[in-house]
This record gives sequence, structure tokens and C-alpha cells, in this order.
Amino acid sequence: MPSHRIAVIPGDGIGTEVVPPAQRLLDAAGERYGFSFEWTELDWSCEYYARTGRMMPADGLETLREFDQIFLGAVGYPGVPDHVSLWGLLIPIRRTFRQYVNLRPVTLLPGIDSPLRDVPAGGIDFLVVRENNEGEYSEVGGRLYRGTDQELAVQETLFTRAGVERVMRYSFGLAASRGGRLASATKSNGIIHTMPFWDEIFRELAPEYAEVETSEYHIDALAGLFVLDPGRFDVVVASNLFGDILTDLGAAIIGSIGIAPSANLNPERDHPSMFEPVHGSAPDIAGTGRANPLGQVWAGAMMLEHLGHTDAARAVLTTMGKVLGETGVRTPDLGGTASTAEVEQELLRVFATLE
Ligand code: ATP
Ligand code: MG
Repeated sequence: MPSHRIAVIPGDGIGTEVVPPAQRLLDAAGERYGFSFEWTELDWSCEYYARTGRMMPADGLETLREFDQIFLGAVGYPGVPDHVSLWGLLIPIRRTFRQYVNLRPVTLLPGIDSPLRDVPAGGIDFLVVRENNEGEYSEVGGRLYRGTDQELAVQETLFTRAGVERVMRYSFGLAASRGGRLASATKSNGIIHTMPFWDEIFRELAPEYAEVETSEYHIDALAGLFVLDPGRFDVVVASNLFGDILTDLGAAIIGSIGIAPSANLNPERDHPSMFEPVHGSAPDIAGTGRANPLGQVWAGAMMLEHLGHTDAARAVLTTMGKVLGETGVRTPDLGGTASTAEVEQELLRVFATLE
């Protein structure tokens, strides 16, 4: 029976509340489909930072390297600056393990009302591929002349040919394997060096994937279309910053940030990938027992898929769809009154009754 060694980082806030229910559903999936998980919990978090001055131990990346995959809740705590949790944990993991694809499904699940008007069931179903290793989130830049009237700040965007090409090849391949349409997010009218480079590489690769129909949109127009006509998209590829913004918008149009998942993928599989919900630690509701566990569960389904357990992944998604579509059990962010624990019970019950 295959066993998968998974590093679990519940993190902070609701991360610690939604990870265990997702683990229990994944264990049930393993039992049913003939595999198991060997979970190793790591307490790296803002609380760990408060104790040690670091988000993870100095040899944390070496520790993680030994695992098949990483299952993350959320990190962040009021008072700890975002750049500490981001640059002290998430970004080093994403870069060291060459998780250059951040894959985020934007799918309207059964029983969920989109805040958009008149969206039919199945009317929103696409994937955003966010470049996850370079682009606008770079350390290159600085500030000068602080406190004078000459004060200035510079932030450089870095695109490498290899970095852009690999994320685009992944996106073309993904589009070829499903609906056959790939849209690229650009802004080459305003950003005149990096975005034209991005566009050129997109156009150079397109002929190699003749079966994929391509389109290019300026990011501003694209954001509008996510709202006005989300049904037109199949796969969207975007830079780090554009993808970040688009996927929060994507999470909003599928009903709640509490259900949206995210996979930081190392497509070559020579390092672990990392699976996490789109949402953060939600300090405003942490400790109330009302956090929606579905984003974490969906992230777990993406991990199953990446591990090759396609049937188990599909069963978990079917279970989520049934709980949302056929029972009234849902957390307050989706208009319900259920607790995290009640949603977990319902997920396990429905999963056990699947054909
Ligand atoms: P972080 O800095 O960790 O990203 P944040 O406060 O910026 O935290 P989120 O944690 O994503 O961002 O929270 C945004 C809003 O969405 C909050 O009001 C939060 O309560 C709500 N929210 C986020 N995740 C969930 C969830 N799983 N269930 C219910 N509500 C959620
Ligand atoms: Mg946040």
C-alpha cells in the first residue's frame, strides 16, 4: 500500500482549525482507495517566530526536502508584519523547491451562489496559473533619501526567459489537456520592458501547441471580464502580482474565500509541492470554531490529484459538492450556521455513503 510522507504546517489562526478536519477526510480517502498518509506536524508559525525570532528553524528547508509534499494551513498574526511570514516561510519554500506554478481553480460549486448575477450552475469553471517564483515580488530595489523631499522608492520586476517559458509551457500543456483555450494576462501598453518580453515568449511558444486557442488581455480588461463574462475562460496564465490579484477576484466570484484552494506545484516533481487554501489565518474569526474547512479540503483534493490519486481527488470534490448542494450544512461565510466540526462530520458522513 503506498504511503505518502507529508509535512503538515497548520500555522496560525484558523489554519490550526481547518487542517485537522482536512487530514481526517484525506485519511478516509486513503482507506477507501488503498493508500495512506504519514503526517509529520511542524509547529512553524508566527507563534514560533515570537519564541525564536524565525518563522522556521535554520535548517527548515532541509527538513522539508525529505517529504513527498507539504500541506499548509495559513501563517500570519496581527502584530507580525506580513513580510516576516511571507519572506520567512512561504517565499523561501516556493523558490527553493521550484514551485513555480501556483495553480488556483476558479469553479463555482453546486449550491453556492456567486455574487455575480445570473451565473448558471457550472457557469464558472476555469484555472488560473500564477507565476510563483519571480516577477514583481523581487528583493531588487530600495529606498533613498528617507525623510527628505527627495525621498524615493524603486522596486524592480524580474522576468527570466527560463522562468517565463516554464510557467507558460505548463499552462499550454494544461490547456491542451482540457478545454483548449489559454488566455495570457499582460499590460504591455504601460509596462514597456517586462510585459512585452512576457508577450513575446507567449507568442513564440503558441505554434508548438497548435491545438490551444490563445488570447491576450490587458490585466485591467481581464479583471472586468472575470466579473462580466467568466464563462469565456478555460486556463489563464498570469505573472506573480497579476495572478495574485486575479485569484482573489476568482475566489470572490465563486462565493467565498473560505472555499478557494491553491497548489504551489513543482511540475518536475524533483521537490515537494505545497498545498494550501487561498485564505489567510483570519484572526477576526479564529477561535470561534466557525471557519470554513472547505478551502483546506479542496487543497487536499489537489494534493491527491498531484499524488496520482485521481479517483480519490474526484470523490473528495464530489463530497464537497454534495454537502453544499444537498445538505444545508455550511459555515457562516456561506450563509449557514454550522461549525467547522459540523461541516467535517457531514463531509465524513457523505464521503462514506458515496457509491
Ligand atoms: P492573512 O494576513 O493571514 O492573509 P487576512 O486577514 O489578510 O489574513 P484572510 O485570513 O484570508 O485574510 O481573511 C479575509 C476575510 O475572509 C476575513 O474576514 C476572514 O474572516 C474571512 N475568511 C478567510 N478564510 C475564511 C474561512 N476559511 N472561513 C470563513 N471565513 C474566512
Ligand atoms: Mg491576507
